[in-house]
This record gives sequence, structure tokens and C-alpha cells, in this order.
Amino acid sequence: MKACCFLFSSLLLITLTACQKPKTSDITAIMGARLIDGNGGAPIENAVVLIENGRISATGPANDIKLPKNTIIIQAEGKTMIPGLINTHAHVGYRDEVNPEHYSTQQIQNQLELYARFGITTVASLGEDREQARAFQAINDTVKAIGRARLYIAGEIVSGNTVESVQEIVNRNAKNKTDFIKIRVDNNRGRSNAMPSEIYDAIIEQSHKHNLMLMAHIYDLEIARDLLESGADFLAHSIRDKEVDQELIELLKTKNVCYCPTLTRDLSTYVYGETPDFFSDPFFIENANTLEVVMLKDPDRQTNVRNGEDYEANQEALKMALVNLKKIADGGATIAMGTDSGMPTRFQGYFEHLELQLMAKAGMSPMAIIVASTKDAANCLKLTNVGVLEKGKLADFVLLEANPLDDIVNTKKIASVWIGGKKVER
Ligand SMILES: [Zn+2]
Repeated sequence: MKACCFLFSSLLLITLTACQKPKTSDITAIMGARLIDGNGGAPIENAVVLIENGRISATGPANDIKLPKNTIIIQAEGKTMIPGLINTHAHVGYRDEVNPEHYSTQQIQNQLELYARFGITTVASLGEDREQARAFQAINDTVKAIGRARLYIAGEIVSGNTVESVQEIVNRNAKNKTDFIKIRVDNNRGRSNAMPSEIYDAIIEQSHKHNLMLMAHIYDLEIARDLLESGADFLAHSIRDKEVDQELIELLKTKNVCYCPTLTRDLSTYVYGETPDFFSDPFFIENANTLEVVMLKDPDRQTNVRNGEDYEANQEALKMALVNLKKIADGGATIAMGTDSGMPTRFQGYFEHLELQLMAKAGMSPMAIIVASTKDAANCLKLTNVGVLEKGKLADFVLLEANPLDDIVNTKKIASVWIGGKKVER
């Protein structure tokens, strides 16, 4: 096209016009679906969602929305529309035990496309992110046809023995424009020393100087409480050592900190002691890494998992996580969906849907789960362009064949996924 226009640029305007692409409409209307907009209110039946240049320009009942001229109509009667799901705790570039040394731009691209095919349209990678991940952040807030999940990163996980050394890592991350800072404060069930408070206090302070949220890996109630008092901004795992108390729930609320359960992370610590049921789910099989599945079906490997020192303790940890999720959600603190998928044996895309099912098992309602995976997830990451389907937001959404409010398992019945108003190839 450019060459054509260049060649004829000295000719008449009419020639130039002939070189230009015929103008197609940038306005699309999704017609007739049940709309769950992410805000938690009653769904709108027979809705219209109008998309202009990759952003939502109007939503409402069909009778209330006037369609502009040249609108492209997408018929969606019988379908349910939800915002694209947001995973607030993932990792990219790593998963694949078969091939451990393969972190690359291509690998990240493939994994973000994988997430997108499963309806996960935004992913926060909480740590171990290398230079190759940075290029993906640049177009996060654009409406380009990216065909993959949007990516936010935490960069290098911060650890060290001195205040100076940890401040330096925070500064380096900030210079590299990471979106968050990630730390781990965990004593591995009493087997090691957790990061001392003077170190994480320094990391939190330095992160806040750079206006970066501090995301904390935790396991224990006491550590979680101390971190909240010190100003941590996000709990990136469940509390699994004991039942949470009211004080913890109040701290989460008054400090406005989100709680990310990552239940499937705990499932993955023991579920491969045998062949899990989900290995026969067509929704899993479609996109699973066959080599990894073969490895996980190996009877010797399964025996090793069952004989592992923490095999029973890991099952207890997930049970405790389910109890605590219900208490914290009922107590009114904000839950953000996250899985820790992307590390070996944690299947990106599929695990997010499994996570939603575990959240239901904990006792959350389908609507509460959807809000935790859309609006609240976006707010918890301080993302202002995604999370709900309303005017001005990026048109990232999923059309489902069945209503997830009837059963959260229906999030697996994906008809199509759209990112920035463009349909993702599946
Ligand atoms: Zn993680």
C-alpha cells in the first residue's frame, strides 16, 4: 500500500484515493447476550455492547442503545458476556519442566496467547521476570490487535541480607519499569528463617518511594499480620498455617489490601500423586503440553510425590486455605483471583478455571468469584483500563455458551475471547 501511494504521490488526488484501503467501520456491536459487566450487579438480559476503536463506548439493554451507521453486528443471543478474566498472580516464560532452559520472548508470547485462548486477558507475572518480558508491557494500554493477554510484571524478586542490597534491587526494578515489587516472607514450615522484618520494612519503604505496590508471598498468619502492619500492599497467597482471626480481616480492610488465594498452587503440590481427573477434561487436553502430561503420568514420579515429606501437610494446607478464603470473603475483605500458574506443573489458562471452581468449593458465590476475577482483580493491581465492561474501558471480554451464575464451571464453555475489541484466534 505504501509503495503504491509513494509511486503515485505526484499524480492527481484521485489516484491517491484509489491507493487507500476502502474504509471499514471501527464500530462493532455485540447484540443480544446476557451481560455480566464485572461490577457485581444483576446481569442485563438482551444487552448491546458497543465497541469503538477497541474500547467500549456504550452498554445497556437493546432498546436503549442506538446503533451508529455502519456498525458491524455480532449476534450473541443465548450467550453470556463477562469481562476478560484477570490473573493477579501468574508467571510467564518458565513453565515446562521438560525444557527448563527456555525463557525467551517467544516462550512468553506463546504463554500469553495460551492464557488468551482460555479467556484470561490480563496477567500479572509476580516475579522472576527477565528483560524479555519488558517489551510486552509497552502496549498494555493500547487497543492494538495483540491476540494475547496483557502482561504486567514484578521483575526480579527482592531478597538480600542488608538494607542497602535490597534497596538496590528495588531501585533496579524501578529503573526497569516493573509494575510491582515482589518479596517472599516464608519460613518453609519452620525449616528456615523467614526474611527479617528490618529487611522487608526497607523493601516496602523503598518500593513506596518509587510508587510501586509491594506484593508479598506469605504462608503464615503471624507473618501476614506483620507485613500488613508494615505496609505491604497485596497478599499473593493464602494463609495456610492456621485459621485467620478477625484482627487479620480488619487489617486487610483498613489497609485496603487484597488477598489472592492461589488455591491451585496448593493443589499442584500433591495432586500429581496420582493422575488428576482434569487430565481427561477436553478443555484441558486441547491446550495441554503433551510432554508435561506424560511426565506427570509417570507412575514412579507419582509414587515420589505420594512419598514426599509434605504430601499430607500440603493437602491440609489447601483445606485451611479454603476455610480462610471463605472467612476473609465473608468478612468483607477484597479477594483477587490468582493461581501462581506458569511455574512447572501449573497449567496456564486451565488452572485459572480450576481456581474459580476451588473458590466456589470454598463457598464463594459465582458472582463474587467473577467480581474477584475481573473488577476487583483490576483494582487490586491498580489497573484502570480493564476489569469491567463499561464506557471507556478496553473491550476485553469473553462470550460464554452458558451462564456462569448457574454454575461457575460454565466459564469453561468459551464461545469466543476478545481483546481490545478484536477476536482472539482459538
Ligand atoms: Zn508465584
